[in-house]
Amino acid sequence: MSGRPSNFDLHCHSTASDGVLAPAELVRRAHANGVDVLALTDHDEVTGLAEARATAAACAIRLVAGVEVSVTWGGITIHVVGLGVDPAHPALAAGLDHVRSSRVRRAERIAAEFDALGIEGTLAGAYSYAANPNLVGRTHFARFLVERGVARDVRSVFHRFLATGKPGYVPHEWAQLADAVGWIRASGGRAIVAHPGRYRLSRTDLRRFLDDFKAAGGDGIEVVTGSHTPAQYGEFAALAREFGFLASRGSDFHGPDESEIDLGALPQLPADLTPVWHDWHRDRQTRAAACPA
Ligand code: AMP
Ligand code: MN
Ligand code: MN
Ligand code: MN
Repeated sequence: MSGRPSNFDLHCHSTASDGVLAPAELVRRAHANGVDVLALTDHDEVTGLAEARATAAACAIRLVAGVEVSVTWGGITIHVVGLGVDPAHPALAAGLDHVRSSRVRRAERIAAEFDALGIEGTLAGAYSYAANPNLVGRTHFARFLVERGVARDVRSVFHRFLATGKPGYVPHEWAQLADAVGWIRASGGRAIVAHPGRYRLSRTDLRRFLDDFKAAGGDGIEVVTGSHTPAQYGEFAALAREFGFLASRGSDFHGPDESEIDLGALPQLPADLTPVWHDWHRDRQTRAAACPA
């Protein structure tokens, strides 16, 4: 028995959505950082999984098929992570296809907002950063605006233009909560609320949301994530206990220069919580010492 606890990182992004690294590079970086089990959870998209799976097999780390579904609940955007999904399941595939198709129209509306601000060419600019044009999103606009010199980094572009209520923000209707949870569960996955501390919800609305999520069949919440402060680890650990939710851990890594928390670098979950992986089969593989290029 090894003394080291397994390192699970169950939330990250590749170039199939708004990550900077290709799936293979992401898996190699996870391996180098000591991750044993990695879930690739691209926004509304599963096309990065095949490449990630192949590289994970070569490096002998375990790859969990995941996705991060964009949901609208109570007028705000909520992200629901699916873990252990079957990417080929018809209901999941059709649901994600529908969510993706609406991104193209939203991108045109975002570009029109920037045109009105006198910042032109952002639609082509955003697409130049979207390796997967079906998945064009706000991060791609932000990277282009940094290139243009409009702001010094992606975070500042969100703060000035792209966050809710800012001049480049366009309200958007994503999937329904019950639908997203239903697609994930129908495909054999577990549904997990991504970074629950990041939504601007009052305590009452947060509980109302968690009640709805549970009623829809939701399984758990992220407790330790790159999007939470250490104080929020405790806050959401308490909510996991209160609601009887499984707990998850994931960096939400997007890229070396954009994410403060690297793959596999988070603290462990509080020991009394039930991790989402509690009944996953033990990984009997031995990690490769090096990951083939
Ligand atoms: P979208 O799904 O296209 O609306 O984009 C959502 C993504 O934008 C998130 O997954 C993050 O990667 C990124 N994002 C959202 N808010 C911020 C922020 N304040 N700073 C940096 N990135 C952000
Ligand atoms: Mn993202
Ligand atoms: Mn998210
Ligand atoms: Mn994410």
